[in-house]
Amino acid sequence: MAPKKIPIRKCVACGAQRPKRELVRIVRTPDGDVRLDPTGRQGGRGAYVCPNAACFETAIKKKLFQRALGVELTPEIVERLREAWGALRLEG
Ligand SMILES: [Zn+2]
Repeated sequence: MAPKKIPIRKCVACGAQRPKRELVRIVRTPDGDVRLDPTGRQGGRGAYVCPNAACFETAIKKKLFQRALGVELTPEIVERLREAWGALRLEG
C-alpha cells in the first residue's frame, strides 16, 4: 500500500508546518475579497494560520495575510475576519 501523502502547510504567523487540515485557511477570492475558508475548498489564493487566537492576531497585526495574499486588508475586511474567526469557536 502506498503511503498516503498528507499536505503540509505553514502558518504565516509562527512558521509552524502542520497538516493542512489542522490549520485555518484564509482565502483571497477571485473577486478580491478576503475571508475565512473553514472548508479549505474555496477557490483563490490561500494563506494558512494555526487555529489559535495568538497566531491569528499576530497575522492581523503584522499584516502577514496582506503579504501572503498580495492584497490590502481594509478595516472592514479585518472586522469580518475577526467575526468569522470568533464564529469558529476555536480553543485559545
Ligand atoms: Zn502559528
